[in-house]
Amino acid sequence: MRLALYPGTFDPITYGHLDIVHRALKLFDRLIVVVAENPQKKSLFSLEERLEMVREAVRGLDRVSVDKLEGLLADKVSRTGACAVVRGLRAVTDFEYEFEMALTNRTLNPEIETVFLMTSMEYIYLRSSLVKEVASLGGDVSHFVPPFVERKLKEKLGGER
Ligand code: ADP
Repeated sequence: MRLALYPGTFDPITYGHLDIVHRALKLFDRLIVVVAENPQKKSLFSLEERLEMVREAVRGLDRVSVDKLEGLLADKVSRTGACAVVRGLRAVTDFEYEFEMALTNRTLNPEIETVFLMTSMEYIYLRSSLVKEVASLGGDVSHFVPPFVERKLKEKLGGER
């Protein structure tokens, strides 16, 4: 059984993230989407809200589960027995940060292999921060996120318009 972890902030989950989930399922038997608290990025949604949205988004995908990240990803890989960490790549701009993360994780746990999956052309410029910006200005984000995420964004950002 080949298990992979797909870590991220998912603030909020977008169709770009889901594209990577579907691609990963072609390579691995099981996938755990791991939702992290990211001290570098101030998140709009709480960890619980982000977890809830990811759970809703992958409902019906029986080989996918969702968990939160407590502590180091390198330790979670060992604890779960995962054989790989999956990350999505959009444009070249992602590369340096991803390279740094992958090599740091490998230093912490030499067993970790990071697998980069390339997103579909239509999601190449899609990132959560842009979705939040569009939503905060009252724009239509239905092309970027599932309907329940769109509703959550409206609830959260509605008052700020
Ligand atoms: P992080 O804060 O750890 O970068 P994100 O939630 O922003 O977490 O992203 C998680 C992973 O999903 C990253 O590998 C990121 O590159 C990838 N990702 C985000 N948006 C897209 C997208 N539109 N297409 C493909 N991969 C994406």
